[in-house]
Formats: sequence, C-alpha cells, structure tokens
Amino acid sequence: MPELGRNDERVLTTLKKSSRPMSAYDILDSVRTEALKAPVQVYRALQKLERRGLVHRVEALNAFVACSDRHEGLHRPGFVICRDCGTTREFKDARVAGIARKAAGEDFAIDSISLEIYGRCAPCEAAGG
Ligand SMILES: [Zn+2]
Ligand SMILES: [Zn+2]
Repeated sequence: MPELGRNDERVLTTLKKSSRPMSAYDILDSVRTEALKAPVQVYRALQKLERRGLVHRVEALNAFVACSDRHEGLHRPGFVICRDCGTTREFKDARVAGIARKAAGEDFAIDSISLEIYGRCAPCEAAGG
C-alpha cells in the first residue's frame, strides 16, 4: 500500500482532533495550506484514508470521522451520533452483518451496510429540556 502523503496526514490529523463528523469542506477550511487548497485534494486524501480503514464515512451526514480503533484495516463500523453536539462514537458488532445478510436475503448482493444511530448524548440530554 502506498505511504500516506503529507496531505493525507493533514486530513487525518484534522479528523482526529474533531469529536464530530466533518464534511470535506469543513476539513478544507481547517487545514487550508499552500499545498492543500482544493476540494479534490481533500477527497483524494479521504478516499485513501477510507480504503485503509483510518477514516469512515457517515453516510447520512455525508461527512467523515477518524477511526477510533487502533488497528488499521478495512472494517465497517456503526455510529452513535448526537444530534445536538455532533459527538460521534464508533462501534463494531459482528451481528450487524448477519442481520443485514438475513434481511437482504440470498438473492440480494450487499455492497455496503451503514448503521447510524441518532439521538442525544448524556451531557446534551442533561442540558436540554
Ligand atoms: Zn474504525
Ligand atoms: Zn451531545
């Protein structure tokens, strides 16, 4: 696998610092440098990071989060996302694939599974009425 380039590292670092998913434009706004200034560069970096399992896409938000696992490698986690503050927690549960397989049936070729759970985290729930 090719080494991560400077831009890939910058994008990854930016995502790691954020507790909430960021769109490609959010990322661009916070990393903009001479070398990294076009959306296509951010998308390219995200694609590379996603293929390594270092970054995940949150489908419904069209945004990205850094993987909270330590290991590299492709995996498809689910997410618990707070609607108020955007805090996102990654989780993995092997049963999800089994449930999806069963639901889709044998005559359906699954190419992706996304499980995103929305609600409010404890601090937001305590703060809100
Ligand atoms: Zn992950
Ligand atoms: Zn919250």
